[in-house]
Amino acid sequence: MHFSDGSLNSVHVVAEFVYCPRSSYYLMTGAESAAVGTAGFREGAIMHGRVDAGGRRSLRGDEVTRSFRVVSTKLGLVGVIDQVKAGRGGDTEIWEYKRGKTRPSRIHEVQVALLALCYEETAGRRPATGVVWTTGDRRARRFPINRVLLDEAERAAYEFAVASHSASAAAWPRHRQAGCAGCVFRYLCWDERELAGL
Ligand code: SF4
Repeated sequence: MHFSDGSLNSVHVVAEFVYCPRSSYYLMTGAESAAVGTAGFREGAIMHGRVDAGGRRSLRGDEVTRSFRVVSTKLGLVGVIDQVKAGRGGDTEIWEYKRGKTRPSRIHEVQVALLALCYEETAGRRPATGVVWTTGDRRARRFPINRVLLDEAERAAYEFAVASHSASAAAWPRHRQAGCAGCVFRYLCWDERELAGL
């Protein structure tokens, strides 16, 4: 798939679009800065601070690179992989660190697949495995980065590109779900009646 017009969208924001178009819209329009003082954002910032230092090192024979910047000009995406682990056998893993465990795992998998597509274009190698490490259970969950997942990620990038080029000034649709109760944007998103029930 090749649909980019030359502009680059953040993988983080595209993955958010898969979770909820409205919260992705808030990220795009800068509403995130109003919420950076919350505990969840602080937890995320501290955890990312550990991997965002960057650099490459060897770990039991594997080559580990942190904060690896990747770009896909075909899909119009840019992102930073928390950790790339290249094993001696040639397998490459894409690691993503997440706080909590409230989001459906598929959202994280699509984000890793978007990063994998960017990595393939940047580094010339296709990663076979994704790993999501969450603070909620402090576990690393592995999954294959297969064609079905990559197709889903490409579709998400395309749908995001279409939405972001729409002339409509209206906020993007809400995706009401269990996670709304803990969403940092709920005071922007919910109407008075919903907020009264908090
Ligand atoms: S409260 Fe729910 S619908 Fe609103 S932005 Fe957050 S996740 Fe989306």
